[in-house]
This record gives sequence, structure tokens and C-alpha cells, in this order.
Amino acid sequence: MITRPQPLPDELDRGYLGRVTRLNGFKDEKQCAAELSVWTGLSDLHERAVPCAMLLSRVAGMRTEDFVRRHTTLPLRRGITSYVPTLAHGCESNDTILRNSGMRLARPGAYFCRACAEADQEFHGMSYWRREHQIPGALWCGKHEAPLSYVEDDRAFLEAPSAHFEQCHTVDDGLVEASAANHAVRRFLEICEGLLDRTAPIDVKDVARVLADRARSRGLQTWAGKASGPLLSDLVADAFDAGWLAIVFPDLGKKRRGELLNRLDGVLYLRTAASSIVAYVLAVTVLFDSADEALQALQSIGNQEKAAPQRKRSSSRPDDEILRAAYVETGGGHAAAAKLLMANYGAVSPRLDAMGLPKLISNGRGRVGAALRAFLLEGRSIADSAAIGGLAVSEVESSIRTACAHFAQLLELIESQDRTVKRSFRRTRQVAPHEVACAAHKRPRVRGVGLGDRERRAGSAIRAVVQSK
Ligand SMILES: [Zn+2]
Repeated sequence: MITRPQPLPDELDRGYLGRVTRLNGFKDEKQCAAELSVWTGLSDLHERAVPCAMLLSRVAGMRTEDFVRRHTTLPLRRGITSYVPTLAHGCESNDTILRNSGMRLARPGAYFCRACAEADQEFHGMSYWRREHQIPGALWCGKHEAPLSYVEDDRAFLEAPSAHFEQCHTVDDGLVEASAANHAVRRFLEICEGLLDRTAPIDVKDVARVLADRARSRGLQTWAGKASGPLLSDLVADAFDAGWLAIVFPDLGKKRRGELLNRLDGVLYLRTAASSIVAYVLAVTVLFDSADEALQALQSIGNQEKAAPQRKRSSSRPDDEILRAAYVETGGGHAAAAKLLMANYGAVSPRLDAMGLPKLISNGRGRVGAALRAFLLEGRSIADSAAIGGLAVSEVESSIRTACAHFAQLLELIESQDRTVKRSFRRTRQVAPHEVACAAHKRPRVRGVGLGDRERRAGSAIRAVVQSK
């Protein structure tokens, strides 16, 4: 017999898991998941763990789709994706997503509003963890306009927020005031809430196309490679409060002005979701004037996808496959490819560069194709290859760099990940507000402590349940 509490409004999945565990007297979340697997009769053909969100949805008496949409942060984290973008949030037909990502956090730490928790104790007889307080960049409670409190260790979700009143950080007042006064921050949070309300993700390819069109109309660079125009990442740095950005997207603070940051600028030209949802929402926030306009634009992409998934692209903007075919057909000429497609050379050439397709024909000055052939297919040195093509070594090097554009992006991603592995948090690249308040802004340190020295067994258990394969 399982005690089955009703999930409370906006209650976070992990908080609900903790509540089910406590009410049933289970030792930890691992035991809870094992007992729920037996109780539900759910099993996996390959003897993998049944996704925890599926188990909890049965306890709650809800469809998994409904539980995921109302109680997990998956609709935000997977709001823009390249992986099975047609699959609705929480759909059981792909339990790999539910198993690996269903109950992950949208940011490190466990956040709560003390005023909400006290009101909940009075109204519900207990406090609980709200999903809206776990959104990246949410530093204050929208209802009480008060700074959120937080515990760095996500094991905190296993107990009620009230258990942490005496052992927590509270976001610095100055940081909250500066962030709340910043229009871009408010728009960002509204867009995140809008994505949380959606029932299905949006295909990253379509989002990238809409964002690139928008960015182009604002004169921003929309291709990879050497920066030669105003950059999206600089626009973001200008629009948002610096202290808030240092928490939500720390990589931006280390970037020099005019330097391309693939993790952010890449949302305009990468067709796979190499960036986090935070990068996409930052871009959407600065490229649209209001949250409503941005959400409508995203919503219309989702609707178009449903209505006409096979629709053809506008002939004035050929898609990547057509560009690649024209490049091959014309022997690698950018101008010739543009002519063949009756498209603008200025629009086609940067896109071919971004796709890793250098100009093989260059006004008769040399034979780039012959040089690259000698280097790549015949194994000759760069100097020999340049001589064969009648080019300077630097020209051959430039073409090789263009051809390696995708690899260069990946290399940058790998390096940025290597750097972040050494940080205190494990799963995301966001940091805790007090780290920024102390280091970047020299604000006084807030009172409170983390739970770093507490016994770790329960934390391992919840991670095992949430992320087990
Ligand atoms: Zn509140």
C-alpha cells in the first residue's frame, strides 16, 4: 500500500519525490523508486530503471505528459531542441529522454521564497518547492517581490524548504534590485515561463533561422569564423545586468568585445542545439522588443511545424542541402553557386563559409581546389600545396580554416567544457548568486552556509534515481 499525496500547484518533481519518500517511510529515493516500480508494475524490457517521472505520475494519478508539463523543468530545458523535436514533452514513447533528462534541474541549487514557504505552512500545513523558483536567473519571488533563498546542495529537495530556513543563502538585495530593474532580465524570465507552458519543443533549425533573420535585419554577424561585424554576444552583454549575467552565463564575462563566443553567437548559425536553452532565450530576449512578441514568434514556428512539417523553404533563402548541392555542381564557386540559385552573393558566400565550404575558385588568381586536393588527398605539406595551387601559404591556410569551421566550433565547445568541469557545480554552467556578489561586484557576503559537509548518501541516491540509465 502506497500513500499517494496530491502534487501541489507548481510543485517541483524532486520535491514531490522527497515528499512521497518521507510519507511512505522509505529509507531514500532509491528505495522509493524500487518500491514504486513494484507497486506500478512498470518494468523495462532491457532491465533499465523505469523513468522516475513515470513512477511519480502514477502516484499522482496523472498522465506522464501532464506530470512532466506541470511539475518538471523539462519543457524549459528541452524547449528548443534538435533531438526528436516533434516529440511532445513527457511522451512515454521515448523513455530515453524521460530517463536521462526528465527530472534534471534547470540550474544548480535548490531555491525557495521564505514568504511563500511560510504561507504554505499556514495554508497547506507544510512548505514545498516551487518550479517557478528554479528557473535560471530567477533571483526573486514574483509574488512577494522578495529575494529568493537557496541551498547549494540539491539534496535539499528531499526535505521541505522550511527545513533549510536556518542553513541557506539569501540572494543579495542589491543584486535583486539591479536585476529586477533591468528590462531584459524581466523579458528573459517571462520567455522562460512561456516555454514552460508549452506542450512540445520547437525545432532548433527553425529557431536558428528566425533568429538569424532577425539578427541580420539588425546588422549582426550571423555566421561563424572571424568576427567582422557587431555580435549577438556583445548585444547580450550590453542589454543585461552584468551581475545577473555572471550567474546565468558566466562565459560571457570572460569574453572580449568583438570576439565570437560560439556558445552564444552559435545560436544564429549552428543547426544542432550545441548551446544551452539559456543561450537561446538570451538571444530571443535581445532580438525581440517584448516577451509577448518573442513568444508569439516562437509559438508561430511551433504551429507552422505542426501544420506543415514538410513545407518548402522560401526560394529566396535556400536551405543548407540546396546550397551544398549548388556548391558541388559549380565546382566550389561561391559566386557561381549564388548565380545558379538566383540568390544574393552577399547572403550565400558567408553561409557557405559557415558550412565549412571554402571558395575553390577565386577570380583566376590561383587554384584553391588544386591546393586543397594536394594537401588533403595527396598528403603534401601546406607549402607544397600552395605552390601547386599558385597561392600564398596564408591563402591555403585560410581555406583550411574555413573547411574546418565545424571542427573549430566543437573545439571551442570542448575547451569551454573543460574549463567548467573544474567549477564547483557539476551539471550546468550557471553559478550561485553569492559567488558573483562576492567576486564580481564586491558586495558584502550574505549570511548562511551551504550543506557541503553533510552526509552525501541521500544525494547520491537522488542522482541515481533521476539520472539512472
Ligand atoms: Zn514568494
